[in-house]
Amino acid sequence: MTHKELCKKIQRKRLELKWEIDSILDEHLGEGEGQWHIVGGWDCEKSPIGLCIYNPFKDPAKDSCIFCGGPHERK
Ligand SMILES: [Zn+2]
Repeated sequence: MTHKELCKKIQRKRLELKWEIDSILDEHLGEGEGQWHIVGGWDCEKSPIGLCIYNPFKDPAKDSCIFCGGPHERK
């Protein structure tokens, strides 16, 4: 596989993953809402996808996950 093919493959997979996450979040947040949310890197027992989710409009600093209330940065 060439570098260009690899990049295309990764881009496609990332997009597929985003669509999958968006549709799961839509079920919990309302139709069309999932796409506006940011997926964090922390495990989240309360989140439907197992990772913390942030609303960049209400919470630009990513201080509180909409499911567990945890911040993005945990030191
Ligand atoms: Zn969380």
